[in-house]
Formats: sequence, structure tokens, C-alpha cells
Amino acid sequence: MNLYELLKKHFGFHSFRKGQEEVIRSILSGQHTISVLPTGTGKSLCYQLPGYILNGTVIIVSPLLSLMQDQVEHLKINGEKRVVALNSFLNVNERKKIFRSLSEYRFIYISPEMLTNQLLLQSLKKLKVSLFVVDEAHCISQWGHDFRPDYLRLKEIRTVLGNPVTLALTATATEDVRNDIIQYLNLKNVTQLINSVDRPNISLVIEELSNKMNKINKLLELVKQLKKPGIIYFSSKRTSEEMAILLRKKGIANAAAYHGGMDQEQRILIQQQFLNNQLQVICATSAFGMGINKENIRFVIHFHMPYQIESYLQEIGRAGRDGNKSIAILLYTPGDEFIPLHMFEKELPSDNQIEKYYSLNIKGHHTADLMLSDVQSRFLSYYKGISENNNELILKVKSIRDIRIRYKQEKLKEMLHWIKEHRCRRLGILEYFNEVQSIPLMRCCDICGLNMNDFLSNDREWIENEKMNWQSMLSNLLLRGD
Ligand code: ADP
Ligand code: MG
Repeated sequence: MNLYELLKKHFGFHSFRKGQEEVIRSILSGQHTISVLPTGTGKSLCYQLPGYILNGTVIIVSPLLSLMQDQVEHLKINGEKRVVALNSFLNVNERKKIFRSLSEYRFIYISPEMLTNQLLLQSLKKLKVSLFVVDEAHCISQWGHDFRPDYLRLKEIRTVLGNPVTLALTATATEDVRNDIIQYLNLKNVTQLINSVDRPNISLVIEELSNKMNKINKLLELVKQLKKPGIIYFSSKRTSEEMAILLRKKGIANAAAYHGGMDQEQRILIQQQFLNNQLQVICATSAFGMGINKENIRFVIHFHMPYQIESYLQEIGRAGRDGNKSIAILLYTPGDEFIPLHMFEKELPSDNQIEKYYSLNIKGHHTADLMLSDVQSRFLSYYKGISENNNELILKVKSIRDIRIRYKQEKLKEMLHWIKEHRCRRLGILEYFNEVQSIPLMRCCDICGLNMNDFLSNDREWIENEKMNWQSMLSNLLLRGD
């Protein structure tokens, strides 16, 4: 059966999207492949389709639990039974059972924290792995915005699995990040298939407001008027909650907050309600949205600026997956950059924490008194092994910390520069990724000129929606029969 027949048979699609076929052919020819494809183009298909051709198991390392569940559900809906997700949702018995029968599955999704599970490693060893996939691979890179030390074990896993053909997928990766991916996965002879990061159907707008009050008013006005659904990004959990409350007070009833401080079940519930159109507006921190498969998101607003252009692109990329016109609006108030600048300094361990952590650790004491955050303890624990000599270790780790802080500051400065530069927004982003702009667009950005009316919801549509809600409520009532 050829690729097109398989595409039709297993996924019901008639053609590949730009970039997909190239990636699939590269994997099938046995090449390690790094693929940069913009959000929403269908990266999952790039390993799911080969799963029906290759002889063996496809292992997918995926950074987010909710994301993983979503992918598994999708495959199941498409008729695939031989798919499983290994993550902390499984209880010990379920886990044991699945570990024993791993070879029965065609697709095995694994969360990064499971990669340290020795029992799993033993079971994986016995498998014939035809393809090893790292989704959202920018998370591997120490220069990526989602740096996660758990990921750095991938090299070991690949060795244990006998160096299988590997596919790293991401929507945004500069050359630095790609080099890190290659290094941390220990890949030799890699094919890099890089597509434009541009999403022409998303118009880019930056609006400067003179103070916070004006910014809040602007936000309310936009959320009331814009076509929904939409996501608003905030840099703090507290603001995301406060704004969700404010929006509801101001009549936008179907708005809710989502952030990493909420418990897992609550987060999944909110995400699910958003996917099912029960919620129209999410006030989120950057914890929301990676891999979210919702086609019709019409706007992404940044109430606070992201800390680097890569994050901005990932976040706005959640809009307009259906290809219809969508808008990304960044609201900037002078001085917004001071919060992150200050945060970068506090996020990683202080001199004192570094000194005490390694001295205490050597004597085998608890580190609880150091009041370390998750990030700080992961950072300290990850670098523990880089030197035998304690003094040298402390010096080295301080210097790594300083380099990371400086790097983040530089990234933020680039973001700020882009915000303040008074020229085509898209061009600025494309240049950042060493791309040149192709054809001029109708609704490019606020500098090139666009008509905001294109993005506003009209009353008709609103009435239609209301009618729909009534109809669905009625049919629900009738179905329930009470
Ligand atoms: P990404 O990981 O690149 O952000 P996904 O893999 O989540 O994107 O896919 C986004 C959506 O595109 C999914 O709903 C998927 O079913 C759809 N899709 C993927 N490939 C195709 C195709 N060739 N034709 C039509 N739709 C596709
Ligand atoms: Mg994806």
C-alpha cells in the first residue's frame, strides 16, 4: 500500500500537509530526522503514519500528560487499539501489567519522568523499536524555553534501545536549539527538515498602553468584541485568576483561569471544557496550550510579554489551526520587562543556596532548610555530577547559573527590541529565525495595516451561538429525560 492509501485508510485525509511527506520519507529511509514544522501542521502524523509501515514499536516521548492523553484518544478514535500512555496516571498494578505486555502495542507514549523508571527500562530493552520520537523536542535544549533536565536521560534510553531511528519534532528551534537536540540525543548523521515558522493566517498586533489600568480596559474591550474562542496569556498565576474573575464580572461568563498551580484534575477539566466549547476564554500562564489540538482558536492575547520570541511563536501558534484568519495581540506597557528581569535572578539558586546544597549533600544531610523551589532543586541536582571536587563544583555551578541568567536576559532584550521596533512584525520574527519574508500578506500586522473589523464577532453570529446553546441544552434535557 502506498503512503496516500495509508493516509486515507488510517486517518481519512486525502493529501499531506506541507512538510509531512518529506519527514515521513526521511524516517522510512532510516534517517535520524529533526523536523521543524509550525504548530498545527500535523507533526503527530509524521510518526503515526510510519507506525503502520514499520515493523516494530513506535516510542513517543511527550512532555505533557494532558497532551499525551489527547493523542492517545485521537488514535483510538481513528480505530487504533494498540496504543498506550505510560505516565503517573497509572497505578502500580496497571503499570506492571502494561510493562509485561509492551510488545503488544504499536504506539507507546512515555512521559519524561517515567524515563527514570528502571523497571520500564528493563521492559523496553526487550522491544523491537522501529522509531523513537521526541515530541516538542525544544524542551531538551538548555537554550530552549522549556528546559527540563529529565529529558537529558534520553541519550541513555536511546542507547538501551539500540540506537533506533529517531525523530525530533518541534515548532520552533533556532540553530542553537537544534544543535543541542542533536547532542543530547547523541544523533549521528541527521537530516534536518526545517520549514518556515510563519503562520500567514495569524495577524500580528502590538499595542502599547501607557499604564496598567489602560491595559486592563483594553483587554476587556478586546475580549468583549473579538471572535472567540481565545486564549489570554499572563506571566503570573495570580493575575490570570484575577482577570478570569474580572472578565466573568464584566459579563464574559465562559472565561476561566488555567495555571500550573492548579491541581492536575482541575487543569484537565478546564482544558476539556475549552476543547468542547463550554469555555470560550482561557486566562492562562504559559503552562497552558502546548500541543492543544483545537482548530478554531480565533485570538491569542498576551497581557504580559513572553520572555523570548520562541515562546511567543509557540503561544500564538495555537490560534487558527483551521487555517482561518486569527489574530495575535500583544499588549505592552513600558516597564513590563522588569518583572521577568527580576525573576530570572531569583529563579535559579543563589550563591548561598549553591554553597550550602553541595556541602550539605556531601555530608548526606537534608536540604529542606534551603527552601528550594522545584526549578532550583532540579538545577542543583542535575549538575551535582560535574565535578568531584566540591569547591570546583560550586564555582562551576555558579558560572553555569550566571550564563543562563545572562542568556535569558539577552533573549528578553531581543523580544523587547522586536516589540519596540516600528516595522513589519512578521519580518522581525522571520529574520530572527534566519528566514526571509515571501509574499506580502493582506492582513499581516498592525504596521503593514489591517482592519480590526475582520476579527470582531458580529451580533448575528452571537445570536446563532445562543440559539445553538439553547438547542443543545434542550436536546440534553430531552436525552436525560428528566
Ligand atoms: P502539531 O503537533 O504540528 O501542532 P497535530 O499533530 O496536533 O499538530 O495536528 C493538528 C491537526 O491537524 C490534527 O487535528 C490533525 O488531525 C490534523 N492533520 C494532520 N495532518 C493532516 C492532513 N494531512 N490533512 C488534514 N488534517 C491533518
Ligand atoms: Mg504536536
